Amino acid sequence: MTENSLRLEGQVALVTGGARGIGRAIATRLAQGGAKVGIVDLAEAGAGTAQEIAEATGVATTFFKADISKEAEAKAAVAAVEEALGPVDILVNNAGITRDGLILVMDEAAWDAVLAVNLKGAFLMSKAVLRGMVRRRHGSIVSISSVVARRGNAGQVNYSAAKAGLIGLTKSLAREVASRNIRVNAVAPGYIETEMTAALDEKARNALINQIPLGQIGSPQQVAEVVAFLASQEASYITGAVVPVDGGLGI
Ligand code: NAD
Repeated sequence: MTENSLRLEGQVALVTGGARGIGRAIATRLAQGGAKVGIVDLAEAGAGTAQEIAEATGVATTFFKADISKEAEAKAAVAAVEEALGPVDILVNNAGITRDGLILVMDEAAWDAVLAVNLKGAFLMSKAVLRGMVRRRHGSIVSISSVVARRGNAGQVNYSAAKAGLIGLTKSLAREVASRNIRVNAVAPGYIETEMTAALDEKARNALINQIPLGQIGSPQQVAEVVAFLASQEASYITGAVVPVDGGLGI
């Protein structure tokens, strides 16, 4: 499949947490497919990312700084992206954080922060784009869950609960808005090459790789390809799906 074979031209995509990592790869891939891209991120670095994507792909991009776990900021972010680029057709709920720790040392703040960004943020952003999508009878939402939603992970009760919650949100919302021609899906990445995995020593890295049937850590681009597909018209008969991108880790 060539980069531009996905039908994304003329679409407006909003990617939360698009400043770096997987979100950046998703924003870039959507732009390569011809979509205009709005990056919404807490980090100011999102402005530079948006500019680099515009220069590399020639599509219009914009950046809005917001904390998507706050309703007023989520609403303002959608309004700002729509003002700059037009009505949002595609929302990617990618912003996420971790505050790991075994439950006996995990404090309430670590639980609340992870649930607020990973789960409530997706609820608030989805709600903020949906009024327009329902009116236009058109839209696609893709949320980034994780393999730990189904498998669990010691030290991540907050994160895996939030990521499992995203799957429930995805399936319920898919049922709510299907009659309005809006699709809602999720991807569940496994271990993806980020600063976190790059920092592992060779022994820890090999132990990780040994658990993965395909025998390698994934790349942000491999996640971005699946997100772009689910967001596009090529996936017009797919809703309520949770697609693993994990090298078989979740089998
Ligand atoms: P990352 O930390 O590199 O990037 C996350 C981005 O989200 C950052 O730019 C950050 O500023 C932004 N962000 C954080 N809180 C925010 C908030 N309240 N409002 C707006 N923006 C906020 O993370 P990543 O590794 O690229 O992960 C992206 C997504 O993929 C996350 O949802 C993560 O849980 C999920 N995921 C990652 C992996 C992995 O191996 N990296 C595996 C499975 C799932």
